[in-house]
Amino acid sequence: MPRFGMVIDTRKCVGCMDCVVACQTENDVPVGFCRDWIKTEVRGEFPNLTAEIRSERCNHCDNPPCVQCCPTGASHVEDFGKVVLVTANMCIGCKACIASCPYDARYVHPDGYVDKCTFCYHRTKDGKDPACVSVCPTHCMYFGDLDDPASTVSKLLRTRQHHTLLPEAGTKPRIFYMT
Ligand code: SF4
Ligand code: SF4
Ligand code: SF4
Repeated sequence: MPRFGMVIDTRKCVGCMDCVVACQTENDVPVGFCRDWIKTEVRGEFPNLTAEIRSERCNHCDNPPCVQCCPTGASHVEDFGKVVLVTANMCIGCKACIASCPYDARYVHPDGYVDKCTFCYHRTKDGKDPACVSVCPTHCMYFGDLDDPASTVSKLLRTRQHHTLLPEAGTKPRIFYMT
């Protein structure tokens, strides 16, 4: 069984937000909400400043507190791909998962359930790329099986410097940012 993950080349991301628009269209994300977003982090001291532009979303953590705290089992890990999903009709909207996520990756859908990035499971379970990955004009995002040493994501992680967000939280994120 694969274990899906994403590798994003921050050197190639230009912050155009095509990934955000593609996600909203593909997944019918209601106006005013988003499953992915762009963050710019500036580091250093003037005049030696560098900026890292990141396309962020749920990290589909290997150790997901949102799943562990869900009282109904709505938040769960799918066997295939180890993708973290929410079963809408099992969600009671208690927001425990929102409080537990260090990445602020979830929101309450106007219909009352909690929603977030699904790694476009409806596409990726059939071998297609997520919508955000497929539209990126600079091809800065890569999606694949982290447990397959021959996959592009595994090869990139072996050869390029990378980091995850808030590793100290212990959630073991599966989105990697190459620097
Ligand atoms: Fe859960 Fe947040 Fe990790 Fe996504 S990023 S799996 S919502 S803890
Ligand atoms: Fe589970 Fe829904 Fe409560 Fe989140 S809001 S913990 S998915 S029941
Ligand atoms: Fe949105 Fe799919 Fe990309 Fe997740 S993987 S941010 S659901 S387009």
